[in-house]
Amino acid sequence: VAGIGSAIALARQGHEVTLLERDATPMPGSADEAYAWDRRGAPQVRHSHAFLARLRLTLRDHYPDVLAALLVAGATELRFGDGLPPTLRGFEPLPDDDDLTMLACRRTTFEWVLRRVAVAEDHVELRTGVAVAGLTARDEPGRPQVTGVRLADGSTVPADLTVVASGRRSALPVWLAELGAPIVAEQVEDTGIVYLSRFYRLRDGAAVPARAGAIGGDLGYLKYGVFVGDDRTFSVTLAAPSDDDELRRRLARVEGFEAAARRLPVAAPWLDGRAVALDGDGGDGTVHLMGGLLNRWRDVVVDGEPVATGVVPVGDAVLCTNPLYGRGCSTGFWAAHLLAEAVAAFGDDVREVALAYDASLRAEIRPWYRAAVRQDAQSRRVAAALLEGRDPDEGASGTEAFQRAVLRDGLLPATRVDPVVLRAFARTFNLLVPPDALASDPDVGARVLSVLQAPDERPPEPALGPATRAELLAALG
Ligand SMILES: Cc1cc2nc3c(=O)[nH]c(=O)nc-3n(C[C@H](O)[C@H](O)[C@H](O)COP(=O)(O)OP(=O)(O)OC[C@H]3O[C@@H](n4cnc5c(N)ncnc54)[C@H](O)[C@@H]3O)c2cc1C
Repeated sequence: VAGIGSAIALARQGHEVTLLERDATPMPGSADEAYAWDRRGAPQVRHSHAFLARLRLTLRDHYPDVLAALLVAGATELRFGDGLPPTLRGFEPLPDDDDLTMLACRRTTFEWVLRRVAVAEDHVELRTGVAVAGLTARDEPGRPQVTGVRLADGSTVPADLTVVASGRRSALPVWLAELGAPIVAEQVEDTGIVYLSRFYRLRDGAAVPARAGAIGGDLGYLKYGVFVGDDRTFSVTLAAPSDDDELRRRLARVEGFEAAARRLPVAAPWLDGRAVALDGDGGDGTVHLMGGLLNRWRDVVVDGEPVATGVVPVGDAVLCTNPLYGRGCSTGFWAAHLLAEAVAAFGDDVREVALAYDASLRAEIRPWYRAAVRQDAQSRRVAAALLEGRDPDEGASGTEAFQRAVLRDGLLPATRVDPVVLRAFARTFNLLVPPDALASDPDVGARVLSVLQAPDERPPEPALGPATRAELLAALG
């Protein structure tokens, strides 16, 4: 996503772009063929993806043809005013609400459309089945000046600027170390979850279940969501704590997954027989499982200087966040756009390009990495306490217990009754404002506090699913 995004943005400035992709994937002819793609280089394509308003807004304002092509391919727009909680009081649409629109399609459909747009550009050449094995550099003292890439077959591809977009397993730090560059410092934090996903398609004539409020939930011991896809597809994802072996084992089997998902009020209507599972020759389908999910930030500017010039990382190669927050494609495409802006401003001066791009990455996107790390640390503590049968607030610091109470008894209930709070929450969730904007807005703060202080006046909590892990396990048999 970040690589193709960079290719489109840079080609439109007139640069010649060569896209190198290791997976030998010929261009699919349809979204369903793309879904069947062998994309072992990006295994996350088998999991649910949300495409946040930040991404759709970047497309609307800067790449409207890409947005139009996605809609033609069957993606749909999820508007802020649709599917609101029935308990919301006095909602009036605002002109800016269009900014809050999300996109719904499969990850494979998104990438297929991006790829089609890229190869239709005059200045883009896509070569698939071509693995990069390292970087080439000019033999000069000081920090390496990258001159292109070395392929697995030993040949080289020269480039004025090498954009490394090789995803979460990118070998970038190794490639740079091989050139003698300073060590790329990494900050890595486990997300504490594993992802389990299943994909479905609604049967002919079956209605799309009505949406009323959140499409996901957090039971503490399990997080989940239902994701609308393109062409009447949808997927359900369950995220279990990575150290809860028993729960994970049971959910990884089709029967266990289905039984659990049917006990989640948001997912149940989708799984009442109106849909068939995708994958597996029209049979029961499969449960896709993915672990090793982490938050990671890589520092490629050290002591105010790029560790190497002529090379810049985009997307997961530089910054990964917990998939549950649905941010990776948005931040990856956003980074590609920021890179293109830096190239437009500084052209051939690759040092200035690297510095300007790094500065905007740190200002705009890194705060989301830090927010994810903070939130995950708390979620991991809660899940561990529930697994051990303890009260999650027991032993928590006063500040943490207070924050949890404000979230549980103030902010979340307020999003169900107060349109101002819901809109502010949605703007933060969709990356339209910095992560701390919600907490620092005095109007929102006052509204949340008034809900916190009047527990009797709020509507009853919607049921999220089995209250305890033991209850869910018992239900699974
Ligand atoms: C389980 C899961 C669920 C997710 N859910 C969401 C979500 O809901 N919303 C969201 O926005 N994001 C989500 N993400 C994150 C999102 O998928 C990634 O952030 C995004 O795909 C990153 O894009 P990228 O271009 O950086 O890397 P990728 O899309 O991973 O692409 C990297 C590409 O580089 C290729 N490659 C790797 N090494 C080489 C090499 N040596 N030579 C040539 N090619 C190479 C790979 O084959 C691959 O095609 C999720 C991630 C996971 C793991």
